[in-house]
Amino acid sequence: MIQKTLVLLKPDAVQRALIGRIIQRFEDVGLKIVGAKMVWADKELADRHYLDLGERRGNEVKERMMAFLTKTGPVLALVLEGVEAVEIVRKLVGSTEPKSALPGTIRGDFAHLSLVYADCKDKTVPNLIHASGSPEEAKKEIELWFKPSEIHSYRLSHEEHVL
Ligand code: ADP
Repeated sequence: MIQKTLVLLKPDAVQRALIGRIIQRFEDVGLKIVGAKMVWADKELADRHYLDLGERRGNEVKERMMAFLTKTGPVLALVLEGVEAVEIVRKLVGSTEPKSALPGTIRGDFAHLSLVYADCKDKTVPNLIHASGSPEEAKKEIELWFKPSEIHSYRLSHEEHVL
């Protein structure tokens, strides 16, 4: 039941200096950070990460996302661990479109743009975070972004109460 999941704090989160406040949300619910590093993705990494985005959202969105990741700046890549962590993290992150993301979610609290607006401006919707969508996706994405030696196993001092 304990899962690991991949989170990317995307270049908009890094450049808006929101990474501390966003990480706090994950720590607050008791999730454990077991991997963390800053990465400026190259084309190959961005392409492998968003392999099926063209099929799901259209090639134009994929192109914009690739340019955003490779040209704007680094992401903070995290591996979070906890009970059903994949679903918990998606709940905390909120829906893809900030306009529709509920208050209390990270996207709902720190962003507001709509997909239509982003499309008019020919840009990717700045929604701060990527989080794996399923346990299978999490496994693949963690392997893509992290070497096994970069994932750590340790005890939180308050683990008895949160895990
Ligand atoms: P999520 O990140 O919520 O899992 P997707 O994997 O479907 O969503 O999309 C990846 C990213 O592509 C989104 O987080 C968002 O930044 C961007 N995106 C998706 N659809 C659009 C769109 N129609 N216009 C602009 N950007 C989009």
